[in-house]
Amino acid sequence: MKEIIQDYNLNELTALVEEMGEKPFRAKQLYTGIMRGHDISDIPALPKPFVEKLCQRFENCALEIIKTLRSADGTEKYLFRLSDGNIIEGVFMQYKYGNTQCVSTQVGCRMGCKFCASTLGGLVRNLTSGEILSQVLKVNALHGGTPAKRQVTNVVLMGSGEPLDNYKNVVKFLRDMAAEGGINISPRNVSLSTCGLVPAMYDLAEEGLPVNLTVSLHNVTDEERARTMPIAKRYKISEILEACTNYFKKTGRRYIFEYSLIEGENSDERHAKELIALLKGRPCHVNLIRLNDVKERNLAAASERGAQLFLKTLTDGGLSATLRRRMGADIGGACGQLRAGYLKEEQ
Ligand code: SAH
Repeated sequence: MKEIIQDYNLNELTALVEEMGEKPFRAKQLYTGIMRGHDISDIPALPKPFVEKLCQRFENCALEIIKTLRSADGTEKYLFRLSDGNIIEGVFMQYKYGNTQCVSTQVGCRMGCKFCASTLGGLVRNLTSGEILSQVLKVNALHGGTPAKRQVTNVVLMGSGEPLDNYKNVVKFLRDMAAEGGINISPRNVSLSTCGLVPAMYDLAEEGLPVNLTVSLHNVTDEERARTMPIAKRYKISEILEACTNYFKKTGRRYIFEYSLIEGENSDERHAKELIALLKGRPCHVNLIRLNDVKERNLAAASERGAQLFLKTLTDGGLSATLRRRMGADIGGACGQLRAGYLKEEQ
């Protein structure tokens, strides 16, 4: 596999251009083109011989959008083909305050959560920082955005993969995406979701990157949580909560818990009461969502009424909580519906 040029930030491109014997200003031209979502061969300012030299070492195109699905609610789902032929998915959601893009961080996932399609084929490979960044650059360009006038304003690391299981590349991606002069999306507009890899949560708190930390909790006791989330055997809920407290101390950011309501698993009144006891007084928010269907799994969503009741119990108990809409569910673009090897299954 050739290198991915989107893995290089402006400093690294400057060194590269020098190493290749080109004029220093070419680095800026290259960087500007990349940030506009162009493939190497589409950057108008670059002379042809330089483009050819670059394409011997780098993939002309880190990834391309090969299919777009539009939901009735305006959500769009994309299939991206990576340069090695792997397929990943991404989702674009439009809100009143701006547009949010959901990016993947791995091809597949090895966390094994029972309700999630991303994990069905296990982990295929990590994405490079440039492959994660390219998802944002391509979709921003697709919607007519530029780095100066962005169409993607918020990014969530909630596509396929466990971001903290690809720690180094994810942190580089966050830094490169925040760089001034680039697409310049601040960590404050980014949410990183983890199933609770405790040591990496501590590491993240030290990076000086104040992203919004989201933790997939989905149950109230370690035993029950382990029924659907194998990672619960490794890290206790109490350890996760301590790591969240540390994150808040270090970054000043409130944290969020994801709680997908599954019938007969985690959505009884008892669960709501125990959740209040666990989280009351913490600077956190609870995002409830009714489980989305994943056809390979035998788990069902809690009823709409049950979900409303659960929400009321939480808010009456003093927690900050909301019940999210299942955006993009009709196109398989909602939480837990993104999967590796899409084409293999669908064709
Ligand atoms: N690996 C990370 C990122 C995935 S984010 C994590 O575990 O947080 C996707 C979110 O959707 C997570 O909160 C995940 O637990 C949740 N999810 C997965 N499958 C789901 C499903 N079928 N219905 C609703 N939410 C689901």
